[in-house]
Amino acid sequence: MTAAPGTTVSGTLKVPAGSGDAGTTIPFSIINGATPGPVLALVAGTHGAEYPPILALQRVRQALDPRSLSGTVILVHVANMPSFLKRTIYYGPTDDKNLNRVVPGTRDGTLSDRIADALTREIIDRATDVIDIHCGDGNEWLRPYSYWVVTSAPAVVAASKDLALAFGLDHIVIDTERPNDPKASLYLANTAMTRGKPALTAESGGWSQTDEASIARIERGVAGVLKHLKMRADGPDPVAHPVWLGRNEVLRAKFTGLLFPMVEPGQTVAQGTIIARITDFHGALLEEIRAPFAGEVLYVVATPPVTQGEPVGYVAERATSIPAVKRP
Ligand SMILES: [Zn+2]
Repeated sequence: MTAAPGTTVSGTLKVPAGSGDAGTTIPFSIINGATPGPVLALVAGTHGAEYPPILALQRVRQALDPRSLSGTVILVHVANMPSFLKRTIYYGPTDDKNLNRVVPGTRDGTLSDRIADALTREIIDRATDVIDIHCGDGNEWLRPYSYWVVTSAPAVVAASKDLALAFGLDHIVIDTERPNDPKASLYLANTAMTRGKPALTAESGGWSQTDEASIARIERGVAGVLKHLKMRADGPDPVAHPVWLGRNEVLRAKFTGLLFPMVEPGQTVAQGTIIARITDFHGALLEEIRAPFAGEVLYVVATPPVTQGEPVGYVAERATSIPAVKRP
């Protein structure tokens, strides 16, 4: 697939059949600017029940004029087609794997592994900058935020901070725990960073909603990044005074049963505040999950099914210091 300068083309990446599955497709578009510049990859649908990112990229495809663009935008419209069509949360329907935990993937693995491999080779490897756009999964009620990963090469970390500010979400988690070995990466944005490409994971929306505010926030974020990378002359300014979040913890269920959320996203909680209760299938209380420290709730699971080990909520505390960045 080739897009001449100043044109937009769309196509489909084929992930061939493997043992135990029929393969899948990954719909994408290339918006090739009239003049050269960065190659920005925007990925939606890594989790197939996360709809605002997918819908926002449909709009970007229509609205972005290649004739007034410098550089190239690659849109991955639905990265995880099996999950999207089967409406699965977290895991692919054929192999029970979380696509955003198996990147960079393998050529001969299960379907999620092979989707990850296709995304790594055909999208990440061709891009200069990568934004993996998520929201709360189909069961997660979430306030918007992004992750700034600080464990890669200094120049990549500095440029990734700029991407987070340009995208404009006003809460940014400082992530100090992502692997920095290209062979050991797990997440899509993490995989890009270990390969020397500035990257960002953004979260806007959730709970299977398709609300205008969550979609528009992503469109605004993309426009801010295009301006920051000098791919377009106009666009919104970076967020001026974000809330930087340091210590953070995904709280996990110790039991399988029914989950009852006790907080809302964006809520400030004290240490010990009950985040959710889990009961057995006859109504007996099994567990109260409490905030391990004072902070803000970024998401809470808001539908009843819960399996031992799965996330229940995510709490983060304001950062006491922001890591220094070294610019080349
Ligand atoms: Zn996700």
